[in-house]
Amino acid sequence: MAKKARLSDRQKRRAARIAREKGPTCPDCGSSEPVPEGEARAHPGGSANIAMRCLTCESASEVTLVLSPEEAKALGLGHALRAPEAP
Ligand SMILES: [Zn+2]
Repeated sequence: MAKKARLSDRQKRRAARIAREKGPTCPDCGSSEPVPEGEARAHPGGSANIAMRCLTCESASEVTLVLSPEEAKALGLGHALRAPEAP
């Protein structure tokens, strides 16, 4: 099950930088600079998704940025999203 977390402004800026490196594009206008919406969905394995939205065309389509566990950790999502169950 995925867990949601709000992104701080700093995390949003980092997410935007990762997005530029990965280059997700808007499915509607092709813009390569969608911006993070401010919410991350984390998965038990440590990876995370961040919902992005295109400001160029204000498309209703959501672009999802997929983060590896390392990237999610670098973004500071690690501790907030640790799986609740203990071994
Ligand atoms: Zn667009």
